[in-house]
Amino acid sequence: MKSKLFDFGKIVEGVYYPGTFFIGISKKFFDGMKYSDFTQDEMATFVHEYIHFLQDISTVAGGMNYNHKAKLLQLHFSMFQKMPLLICRLTLKTAE
Ligand SMILES: [Zn+2]
Repeated sequence: MKSKLFDFGKIVEGVYYPGTFFIGISKKFFDGMKYSDFTQDEMATFVHEYIHFLQDISTVAGGMNYNHKAKLLQLHFSMFQKMPLLICRLTLKTAE
């Protein structure tokens, strides 16, 4: 039997959008859900994304990300005030 250090088939997808305090995880949530309803792999993904959140609230880079997103939102609101019919697509993703 071949031992695997890391099984890619069990990866639970997760995402953290820098500067937004928003974590996404590919798991169905339900009312009354508890941490014990997470599998070990789902919890690993959640903890990984939660660490990104902690980086966002505890580092200079995180503060800069938040400031950037806040300014971007402020810019969009001022554009909507001047041009209410303007269609502007907002994304949580940071430009890569
Ligand atoms: Zn990551």
